[in-house]
Amino acid sequence: MEGIKGVLIGRDMLLKKAEELGTQISRDYREKELVLVGVLKGGFVFLADLMRHITIPVDMDFISVSSYGHSTRSSGVVRIIKDIDINITGKHVLIVEDLVDTGLTLKHLKELLNTRGPLSVRICTALDKPSRRKVEIEVEYKGIVIPDEFVVGYGLDYGGKYRNLPDLCTLDPKACKK
Ligand code: 5GP
Repeated sequence: MEGIKGVLIGRDMLLKKAEELGTQISRDYREKELVLVGVLKGGFVFLADLMRHITIPVDMDFISVSSYGHSTRSSGVVRIIKDIDINITGKHVLIVEDLVDTGLTLKHLKELLNTRGPLSVRICTALDKPSRRKVEIEVEYKGIVIPDEFVVGYGLDYGGKYRNLPDLCTLDPKACKK
């Protein structure tokens, strides 16, 4: 596709990781009331893969927070655009995210959800860029660790595009300048 440099992680490996994490989550939350909270927009592809490998009954909802826009660097500002509709009081919550980068988004989200009386709030991410972390944050269910490179596809965008790519790809630097 135009603007893409190459494939960093192929669709098979991404799916295999979703299956692995889904199996682990099903085991850990057996006989518990679990709510999956997908972080929009990027997290929806991984959430769809993950939840089809969860074998216990779960409820789910989405939350939308501000992201990078057209830039490839975090502003550190996190704003709730769409909140969840589900009441999470007395339930176990699992935040499902596409990628943990600086960790600022998830730190903020976890703090926010924790004010609503859940039994627990944990984090599950498809991808992790630990080299860029700015805040300490525990990620209980970690997918694939990737290097410090800007990636698109598998739900992740650049300027709103490329979310539909089934593989995780790197951008052609010439496309970033457009
Ligand atoms: P953090 O708050 O951890 O820095 O970043 C959170 C969000 O920034 C991620 O969920 C993702 O949407 C976006 N992000 C971070 N790194 C990348 C990247 O390499 N590519 C894209 N497309 N988005 C990223």
